[in-house]
Amino acid sequence: MDALARRLAESHPLPHAVLVDCARRAIASGVPEPGEEAGRLAVLFSRSLVGDVINATGVLLHTNLGRAPLPLRTSGRATNLEFDAESGARGSRHTAVSSLVSVLTGAEAAVVVNNNAAAVMLVLAALASGRGVAVSRGESVEIGGGFRIPDVMEQSGAQLVDVGTTNRTRLSDYEKAVASTRHDIALVMKIHPSNFSVEGFVSSVPVAELAGVGVPVVADIGSGLLDSTCPWLHGRMPAVPQFLAAEPAARQALADGAGLVTFSGDKLLGGPQCGIIAGRADLVAACASHPLMRALRPGGHTLQLLQSALMSFADRTVCDDIPFWRMLSVPVDELRARALAVVKTAGRGSVTDTTALVGAGSAPGTSLPSVAVALDGDVTARLRALPVPVVARVDRNVTLLDLRTVDPADDHAVAGAVRTL
Ligand SMILES: *Cc1c(COP(=O)(O)O)cnc(C)c1O
Repeated sequence: MDALARRLAESHPLPHAVLVDCARRAIASGVPEPGEEAGRLAVLFSRSLVGDVINATGVLLHTNLGRAPLPLRTSGRATNLEFDAESGARGSRHTAVSSLVSVLTGAEAAVVVNNNAAAVMLVLAALASGRGVAVSRGESVEIGGGFRIPDVMEQSGAQLVDVGTTNRTRLSDYEKAVASTRHDIALVMKIHPSNFSVEGFVSSVPVAELAGVGVPVVADIGSGLLDSTCPWLHGRMPAVPQFLAAEPAARQALADGAGLVTFSGDKLLGGPQCGIIAGRADLVAACASHPLMRALRPGGHTLQLLQSALMSFADRTVCDDIPFWRMLSVPVDELRARALAVVKTAGRGSVTDTTALVGAGSAPGTSLPSVAVALDGDVTARLRALPVPVVARVDRNVTLLDLRTVDPADDHAVAGAVRTL
């Protein structure tokens, strides 16, 4: 085993202990050529390590590719995560992001947890455990990866009270549930159906109307658009894209009277994976002091990344600083020029107009104009086999490398990948 591991080390730069494990498993498998098998296992291990890929799929927030991409920049020093440098006493890890979220959305306060699923769970556990939560039947949704509203509700200890019907829910449906002594309704929860749309004979009740029902309204807006007017896009895009104007936004939901909003950090916000609970100070405080908070709180790196993303929104520099907003706002002409340059450098392929998608279950049915480098046949497996895998898509036996989701700094890598085919 040791000899085999040492031989593997010549072609696989992996820790000795990992190579010994590959050798052990290869020998135990009883194949006639354990050396070959061990090499195969070493390659499989290398390729399973979390690392960079080039996203040329045209899906801006690709669920399988880490959703919103974000560069990691830390000095590696200790931080004032829970230290108040003013007083020298213990501080809160939430202070800075809470102030920033307030500035950006009008919320009185905010806390951050590991993802939006955790945010919804914590809100329900802290504010409605053992009590009822009214949810429209049309919003009792599954977000994917097992996030199903009835199940989350059950786990939190709150009781789901269905109101209305699948296609139509009226204000009176909520009012009836709240007035009924049978339910003891603590909250009304409005869940954005992020990943599907229903058309036809449908109606739902906006937050502004729900705000008068007598219990706090919690709006799970999902995608994390901070403000539907997108002031950070002024001067960068001719108009706010249609799909963004249709997304529920934190500032508007709170202004309409939502007691709390919950949203993901790594969808339209373009930040790290996390979930944000923002709104009324008393409701946020109840969440922050719940015992689950300790289990759901994010680490310092996450908070630093979120802080820097929020600073970019405040500075209105998101189109330069945050990859998602850069991808969204880059003009098509610029993409076409880049595609032409890639084709020229690679010496093969052609330039074609295409459409990109927002992804992450956000804005279903909307597409963005884009430009791709087109290659004959399906060459996606060969592109994925490169040291930095390039992930592309296939349409009618043509491989498309969509440049909207590629960082311009990676264009040379894409050209190099195409040339090697
Ligand atoms: C995405 C989404 C969630 C889950 O958020 P995660 O951050 O992935 O946990 C919950 N609710 C809505 C409405 C969503 O869009």
